[in-house]
Amino acid sequence: MDGVTHFLAGDLRGLAAALGALAVCAVFFAALARVVKPASWVADARTAAGETRINVILSVVDQLTVTPALGLAIAWAASHGPKLAAAPIWDRIGHWPTILAIVFVGDFLGYWRHRAQHSKWLWPAHAIHHSDTRLTWFSLERMHPIDRLGSALDTVVLAALGFPFWAQAANVFVRHYYGYLIHADVPWTFGKAGLVLNTPAMHRWHHARDVEGSGANFATVFSVFDRAFGTYHQPGPCGAPLGVREAMGEGALGQYLHPFKAWTAGLRRRRERTADAAA
Ligand SMILES: [Zn+2]
Ligand SMILES: [Zn+2]
Repeated sequence: MDGVTHFLAGDLRGLAAALGALAVCAVFFAALARVVKPASWVADARTAAGETRINVILSVVDQLTVTPALGLAIAWAASHGPKLAAAPIWDRIGHWPTILAIVFVGDFLGYWRHRAQHSKWLWPAHAIHHSDTRLTWFSLERMHPIDRLGSALDTVVLAALGFPFWAQAANVFVRHYYGYLIHADVPWTFGKAGLVLNTPAMHRWHHARDVEGSGANFATVFSVFDRAFGTYHQPGPCGAPLGVREAMGEGALGQYLHPFKAWTAGLRRRRERTADAAA
């Protein structure tokens, strides 16, 4: 019982720290919106309130369930992985090059993982993230637990590859907060820097619905992967409608149930097709 109490206390401490960091981000992005869109930032925030409410529920549940499970998975991968790069390598090349290396390798892994999340059978879980029709920085928090476990696979692989723990922590920090930035409701394309870095405009095109460029731009930090693999789309700021075509059900519960309903319906359709072909 002591062990359970200890685990829950640690989990609640983690939740309190996460909520504190979110409060700081909320203040920062509200101030940013006020500077970038002085005439409409309050109205935009009100319009996004319904979607934000769902994101808050999913975020709190995630902090209490998926995040602790991932911590255990990463710790296991770090101690049992093949350790392709031994610790002295990182000591020789130094902190900043190591951080650049892990973020670059992590973004490469994340690019292909994200493309897989857009495949037929993984999409129903990833669709939850895309169902937010009022993209804001906090939309990053809208993820189905199954999709989130998939999203963290690259972190587990990096741990298994032997990157030092401090570099893994730096990578999670950079990717997470850069993730907030590219979801922010600002029209920034970053000019020439957009040829190297992912931008809020690029990621908005990724979330666009039913227009050319929907579903492009899969990386989080670097745009070079999308440029190299033919999925780069940045014609300028994105004013297209956002979201998904499918109905997601009501509120947070509808979001949690959606992939299971979609997979069940998909399997039923497949069985019917097989039966028709056999008849
Ligand atoms: Zn996506
Ligand atoms: Zn997104």
